[in-house]
Amino acid sequence: MRAMVMDRVGGPLEVREVPDPVPPDGGVVVQVHATGLCRSDWHAWAGHEDIALPHVPGHELAGVISAVGSGVRKWSAGDRVTVPFTCGCGRCEWCLSGNGQVCPSQEQPGFTHWGSFAQYVALHAADANLVAVPEAVSVAAAAALGCRFATAYRALAGRARLAAGEWVTVIGAGGVGLSAVMIARALGASVIAVDRNASALAAARALGASHILTSDGSADSGIAARVHEITEGGSHVAVDAIGNEQACADSITSLRRHGRHVQVGLLPQAVGNPRLPMARVIAWELDLLGSHGMAAADYPPMLALIQGGTLRPQQLIERTVSLDDGAALLPGLDRARPAGMTMIDPQRA
Ligand SMILES: [Zn+2]
Ligand SMILES: [Zn+2]
Repeated sequence: MRAMVMDRVGGPLEVREVPDPVPPDGGVVVQVHATGLCRSDWHAWAGHEDIALPHVPGHELAGVISAVGSGVRKWSAGDRVTVPFTCGCGRCEWCLSGNGQVCPSQEQPGFTHWGSFAQYVALHAADANLVAVPEAVSVAAAAALGCRFATAYRALAGRARLAAGEWVTVIGAGGVGLSAVMIARALGASVIAVDRNASALAAARALGASHILTSDGSADSGIAARVHEITEGGSHVAVDAIGNEQACADSITSLRRHGRHVQVGLLPQAVGNPRLPMARVIAWELDLLGSHGMAAADYPPMLALIQGGTLRPQQLIERTVSLDDGAALLPGLDRARPAGMTMIDPQRA
């Protein structure tokens, strides 16, 4: 098969022929029809994750099952599927309670083993992790769910328990941030979107953000003060959808008393733990919540909203490219200013 191969940390990515994967026991091989280019891929490429080289990145995917390993009960070749980027073992107490996203033995395609920037990808514990893609949902829309969209959904609906009529501040209007804007509106909340990029803010506005704030990424932008003014006391919920110290601090300080901060953007330990305004967290009794993907068990209500047209992840896809184009784009993802998601179609020449 053709795959995008990373031979060294920070080096060029080469698209070349590699051996086809074989299904692990309890797992499957999926022919990949759409796979999203995500900032987490950049973190792995930059050396912020423990990966074995040579490596194939890619963790947001959808496609068609091409081979089934021994012991798989629920799935057959030809099924259209997607998968959370956090694949639980399917056996531990966390997986059995529907929380494979925090499984201590989880596998992550594109991190713990070769991922989906390839024509085929192997996936583990298929019965616990695969999600059927309904007829009405395209593979590209389904691929958008595996990481950023599902993570945003779980962050707001599951972790923050966002309610209709509440204010949400979304810091960062990239793939996960724009997903959060769309989901927050669908849940009946009002949204303030923050970004440094005018076209990303325009996209957030088009998705229903009632206010957009431009930040240069420094404390001088005064984001929290502007949010407090707009919301008369601060947001009920705020999301750091970027993952850096200032974005996280802006999210926390833009909250009202008893507000809920959700950390979605990655803060890799390799770059050091962030300094946070914990005095405010104490004095205002703020909740700090982590969100790490979403388990297959939590997909049905989200898929129902997609099938009904309330949520439209396909609208967040800005462009679809080939593996070769994706290989050229990945090293610049930290500096890119996309207004939406970039999808790779690995079957495209
Ligand atoms: Zn991702
Ligand atoms: Zn588990």
